Amino acid sequence: MTTSIPSAETLLSFEQEINAIRDETLSKVGQADADYIRRVIRFQRGLDLSSRLVIVLGFIHPLFWVAGVLMLALAKILDNMEIGHNVMHGQYDWMNDPHINSRNFEWDIVGDGDSWKRYHNHEHHTYTNIIGKDRDYGYGLLRLSDDIPWRKKNLWQFFTYLNLSLLFQWGVAYHELAAERIFFGKRRKESHLPISRSELKSAFFSKIGKQVFKDYIFWPLLCFPVFWSVLLGNLCANLIRNLWTSTIIFCGHFTEDAQTFSEEECKNETRGQWYYRQILGSSNLEGARWFHILTGHLSCQIEHHLFPDIPARHYPAMAQKVEQVCKTHGIPYNTGSFAHQYLTVVKRVLRYSFPDKAGQEPLTNH
Ligand SMILES: [Zn+2]
Repeated sequence: MTTSIPSAETLLSFEQEINAIRDETLSKVGQADADYIRRVIRFQRGLDLSSRLVIVLGFIHPLFWVAGVLMLALAKILDNMEIGHNVMHGQYDWMNDPHINSRNFEWDIVGDGDSWKRYHNHEHHTYTNIIGKDRDYGYGLLRLSDDIPWRKKNLWQFFTYLNLSLLFQWGVAYHELAAERIFFGKRRKESHLPISRSELKSAFFSKIGKQVFKDYIFWPLLCFPVFWSVLLGNLCANLIRNLWTSTIIFCGHFTEDAQTFSEEECKNETRGQWYYRQILGSSNLEGARWFHILTGHLSCQIEHHLFPDIPARHYPAMAQKVEQVCKTHGIPYNTGSFAHQYLTVVKRVLRYSFPDKAGQEPLTNH
């Protein structure tokens, strides 16, 4: 961590002001949020179905195919980000809707929702950017901080990053299994897995099976004369969705100034210190309302980390207040345009591809 830690009094007043933003927003959560998420779900379901029809029309003109693929990619992005990620965080559990809640919702992606909830909601959101505890940090594949010793494989990590981006849904699906060393590597001595290893394995394969069947067998067979063009369209839509979601997530945590922490630094932290770490470890993207929706409001990654259970459509308004509170408390608030933040991600991936040279200023201070 590079920033000097604010005094206990500053952190206490900071905590109170962040809590006040939370309470004020919570008092407004209600029918308008329920109406909003139902509207997005209706729109997404309609878009998903019509995109499949437009892909089939590709036999009339290839532009239909292109439009259909883009529509399907958009439907998958909305499903995964504005709907899935937020619903599975429990942001709409208060609605008591049998489908729109964190226990039952399942998304259109090969990663099993229960597995994702275990490591993302609990681990990543609690231990954000703590090296050794947050397994989302670099996904065990990339070296993005000098806390992690350099290895030869880091030399070509830019290509590893591009592959990870392209195949992101598979990375998300495999994440918990990799950590539990289900298929490769020495079995972990201690595991906190609440289900058995075989249950984890069967949930993994059954979700993959369902998705592969849907995208690469069911829909292509249903449109049999254009089997290959439908199959290829589904594949392209999945790849576009993967690139988009991984890029947004990388911009939220791996920008140049996003900081990392050691376990030692985070022991017995107060709520204020926890807020402080969430802010230093995340970064925001500025943009229009449609842009925020397409990122599932992860463009406000800082607010998502401060208030993961508040309906995300409130984040842009909360962001203005949080930024102001940070300013008055001398706490850095990392925000910028999409292009700027993305360039710093690329810079970070490249920078840590190489071993640290003596005397070189590290991007983060560990
Ligand atoms: Zn999240």
